Amino acid sequence: MQEKGSISIHTENIFPVIKKFLYSDNEIFLRELVSNAVDASQKIKRLSSLGQYQGEVGDLLVDVKVDKEAKTITISDNGIGMTAEEIKKYINQIAFSGATEFMEKFKEANDANEIIGRFGLGFYSAFMVADKVEIDSLSYQEGAEPAHWTCDGSTSYEISEGTRTTRGTDIILHINEDAEEFLEESRIQTILDKYCKFLPVPIRFGTKSTQEEDGEDEEGKPKYKTVEVDNIINNTSPAWTKSPSELTDEDYLAFYRELYPYPMDEPLFWIHLNVDYPFNLTGILYFPKIKNELEVQRNKIKLYSRQVFITDEVKDIVPEFLMLLHGVIDSPDIPLNVSRSFLQADSNVKKINNYITKKVADKLQEIFKSDRKGFEEKWNDIGLFIKYGMLSDEKFAEKANEFCLLKNTQGESYTMKEYYEKVKDIQVDKDGNIVYLYTHDVAQQDSFIAGATAKGYDVLVLDGPLDTHMTSYLEQKGGEKIQLKRVDADVIDKLIQKDEKIELTLSEDESKKATEVFEKAISRADMKVEVDALHAEDLPVSVTLDEFMRRMKEMAKTGGG
Ligand code: ADP
Ligand code: MG
Repeated sequence: MQEKGSISIHTENIFPVIKKFLYSDNEIFLRELVSNAVDASQKIKRLSSLGQYQGEVGDLLVDVKVDKEAKTITISDNGIGMTAEEIKKYINQIAFSGATEFMEKFKEANDANEIIGRFGLGFYSAFMVADKVEIDSLSYQEGAEPAHWTCDGSTSYEISEGTRTTRGTDIILHINEDAEEFLEESRIQTILDKYCKFLPVPIRFGTKSTQEEDGEDEEGKPKYKTVEVDNIINNTSPAWTKSPSELTDEDYLAFYRELYPYPMDEPLFWIHLNVDYPFNLTGILYFPKIKNELEVQRNKIKLYSRQVFITDEVKDIVPEFLMLLHGVIDSPDIPLNVSRSFLQADSNVKKINNYITKKVADKLQEIFKSDRKGFEEKWNDIGLFIKYGMLSDEKFAEKANEFCLLKNTQGESYTMKEYYEKVKDIQVDKDGNIVYLYTHDVAQQDSFIAGATAKGYDVLVLDGPLDTHMTSYLEQKGGEKIQLKRVDADVIDKLIQKDEKIELTLSEDESKKATEVFEKAISRADMKVEVDALHAEDLPVSVTLDEFMRRMKEMAKTGGG
């Protein structure tokens, strides 16, 4: 059997155009071919579990091999395979069914991912690095003949009988001169680590040597020998694909180290995301210690689609302030060949964005409620992040208002509401504004702080990088009629306690007169009347007889006395 044909495309030779256009991102050919191999493996598993395949599935494995001498890279799988008909259908036709459209549109596309995504060119990305590509495949179907396809990057292909005797597919790339870097094992290892580290089917790239126990020496100590074992580059069931109930804290921390092998501080806590409606999304977000916004490494969140790494530029999916977090997000609703303009246009992305914000806020609230002490202790590390979120995202702020902490010079922590309650009657100016005193520099304003404390006032410490913005935030959102004032002698002097207003309404003379009025009205010698607004707590008038005291107190409170 031999057959020649022409890939259905109206333009003479499209590959040079693709090649040139996609060049900057050419390493993704490996991601595309390995994920096709993984797809093919998953498919045979599914067919078997549906009873549509009676044969042995066996151990599924994707094999990546580099042959430096022959200048080839081979990606092999034992998945479903393809018949000659299927190769014609899936490989020849689909990519260029809309060739004219392609030629028109590729000019406006922004990046390689976009081209691949919009035009289903996953397989054809091989031509970014290869002059010639071969497919050798045997379908799982009973009685299928092995098929061989080859294409040299022009629009013609050749199909002949294949050589495979077992189910699956080999994709053989004849690497072109410009792409010889991909014949370096270290380069391939790096690319596999980047894109394929968490794919669901084992991926083997050569072998590696490791130490294995080999009996005992005369003293009974274990002996070791060096052995070559398969170099499996991936973890097929990463933590985010499991249920939170299966995972211990140590599992989460171990996964963090797997994600970021370079020494990093341990995360403070994490959020396991898991939603399947109205979109599908899983992932784990870690809270790093954030001392200083500038020190934190952004772009640490990795975006996956069905366990294939896509990008660590998650700008459009994750709200800006959450870019300080680390971890992974996996959503099959984000296509593998995701592109910037796709993300901006996609309505799921907006929903995903809102969902993540909500989950993060909920988690923080949960920690705050269940372990306030622990939350307060973590505040130094997460406060900056929370404030950043509050200032930049209204939805987040609504929730964070409940757990955003304010610290005073005594080292005490209050929520915004608690703080309002604490000072609302004590720190009032003559216009009735509630004045929050704050310092941005405890050492420098030491004497003013002492002065304020002596008068029973409270002073907030707002010395963080975002706290200048927090002052106006608190004025708007912290409660009614709040003004923030930096603590100094002048401000302290002008403060009054709410109850002290009564003091201002009565001079000493007036007090005396008032006493007389009360005494006259009561006209009982056994009762002593005192009008003492100057030292009043909440009782400017006292008549020392219990029952009267109660009534007078009431009168004084309602203003009727
Ligand atoms: P996509 O993966 O988005 O469908 P591709 O261009 O990557 O697009 O692949 C086109 C099609 O070719 C696949 O959908 C699949 O049917 C077939 N194919 C590619 N590689 C393999 C493989 N290793 N085994 C079986 N089928 C494959
Ligand atoms: Mg593909």
